[in-house]
Amino acid sequence: ITSKLPHVGTTIFTTIGQLAREHNAINLSQGFPNFDPDPELLALVSEAYKKGHNQYAPMQGALSLREAISEKIERLYGRYYHPESEIIVTAGATQAIFTTIAAFVRPKDEVIVIEPAFDCYEPAIALFGGKSVPVSLEGNDFKMNWSTFKSAITPKTKMVIINTPHNPTGTIWSERDMLQLQDILRDTNIILLSDEVYEHIVFDGKPHESAAKYPDLAARSFICASFGKTFHATGWKVGYCVAPKPLMHEFQKVHQFNVFSVHHPLQIALAEYLKDPQHYVNLGGFYQQKRDAFLDAIKESRFKMVPSEGTYFQLLEYSDITDEKDTVFAERLIKEYKLASIPVSVFCKSEYDKKFLRFCFAKTNDVLEKAAEILNSI
Ligand code: GLN
Repeated sequence: ITSKLPHVGTTIFTTIGQLAREHNAINLSQGFPNFDPDPELLALVSEAYKKGHNQYAPMQGALSLREAISEKIERLYGRYYHPESEIIVTAGATQAIFTTIAAFVRPKDEVIVIEPAFDCYEPAIALFGGKSVPVSLEGNDFKMNWSTFKSAITPKTKMVIINTPHNPTGTIWSERDMLQLQDILRDTNIILLSDEVYEHIVFDGKPHESAAKYPDLAARSFICASFGKTFHATGWKVGYCVAPKPLMHEFQKVHQFNVFSVHHPLQIALAEYLKDPQHYVNLGGFYQQKRDAFLDAIKESRFKMVPSEGTYFQLLEYSDITDEKDTVFAERLIKEYKLASIPVSVFCKSEYDKKFLRFCFAKTNDVLEKAAEILNSI
């Protein structure tokens, strides 16, 4: 077999998850809550099954859900997306991202990927013959150097992928970052793929800067979102994508022959649940408490930490503990200490020699306390 993706192995989330199970380790690696969605949402789901929404959903998604999404985005970010032509419900944000790349990236096109980068971007670009151009976030606070970014743009740049709040670093972009990006892209035809799956998980009163808030960005953007992250239901694999009509038209051509449509009963339930903003506006506060409890519990440990600004991930820096490479240390943590995390280097194709592990704090307090005990003992 001649592989189309010779450089691609098994995703780190599967590999580490398996190792964690084998060693009976506390699993703070893959990002998912260890608790259930709101019972009210679960009740809406069973109702949707009983009310007979058990055949194909419309190809773009249940209209009631697209309408609820449109209202939400307009209320939060002040931009109107037409439910009939500018919103598509997807099988999670990963499918939205894959489909966007499939619809636009041609052989030899360049796609700027900001590293560390979530691991699904690069293989999709490679699959369609594109070339990932990594731009690394700088320093131990992972800041974007906008002049470095600007110099990565060439006449071949077809797309830029951004992600705020950022997985794995837990940093968020400010209004200033978004304005810089808007300025740099202004006179280009570059498409922006904005991965905003953690949009509701931002801390310390800072706002989420959606590409939808910036007219010149919105005009060129696919914005991807996730109900799994927002409603503690990552196993449902339902998300969505929004873009201006001419862009979405191209996305739809791929979507219809890839998944056609996604899980119908869940969409009906989500449409109803989404109508009440109380169901997501407090998510940042909810996770901030977990972040604070976790950080407080390990403040005497030998790990260094800058509080996560968004997402449900916290990076811990371990250079005071060992010189080991992060993949080696992460493996040792699982085997010797029974605690699983994600080494950040797996999110980098370009040179990276920092010493960070990523811990998911979307867990009940008892699990976070046990993890803290282990971290304090290292
Ligand atoms: N987004 C999740 C994480 O970063 C993983 C999702 C997946 O495994 N595809 O942990």
